[in-house]
Amino acid sequence: MVRSGTELKLIFFPGAKATVAALVLLETLELVPRAAFTAVLPRMEDIKPIGEIREITVHHTGFPEAWLADDLAATANHLAEIQTLHSDPAGRNWADIGYHYAVDRMGRIWQLRDLRFQGAHVKNHNRQNVGIVVLGNFDIQQPPGAQVTALAALLNFMLTAYDNLKVHTHQQLADGPTSCPGTHLQTWMDMTFGGAARKRFS
Ligand SMILES: [Zn+2]
Repeated sequence: MVRSGTELKLIFFPGAKATVAALVLLETLELVPRAAFTAVLPRMEDIKPIGEIREITVHHTGFPEAWLADDLAATANHLAEIQTLHSDPAGRNWADIGYHYAVDRMGRIWQLRDLRFQGAHVKNHNRQNVGIVVLGNFDIQQPPGAQVTALAALLNFMLTAYDNLKVHTHQQLADGPTSCPGTHLQTWMDMTFGGAARKRFS
């Protein structure tokens, strides 16, 4: 049987249920494979399985300068730099880039760390927790419409394709204070995914 392009996209989401509702949402996602920004593999000796996923945590990159690049090559370079910051033995020294997915300014969704593996994005809360980073510093810039539309589509897809998931932002889950994901994205998250943890954006 020939599989449709949408069904092939399921490779980005191990364990996802291929229900009709999930596939309809998945079809709207513009996905970019990990190979588009890196050929560097995770250090497998330092990586754990994620297990059954229970949480999603939304972050921003939060660098001091606003992130304004839209094009694919600049975005790929930016993600490769973040991977180096996270995995360099002289830096964070993690097994790989910390997050599982990134949402860029054009609404493309990049595969970062393979979802089969536990991430490194909320200290003491990485078990069963999917990390999504939205590119920008939302304390000093507003996310473009395409970016939050894609974030909502990704969150709605995951809430549909996996059971018993809760959506948080980094500051809602962290043990200590953090401004992540920035005041503007936090406000958007409160409006669209606030209140009931599984509320759907519509
Ligand atoms: Zn964060």
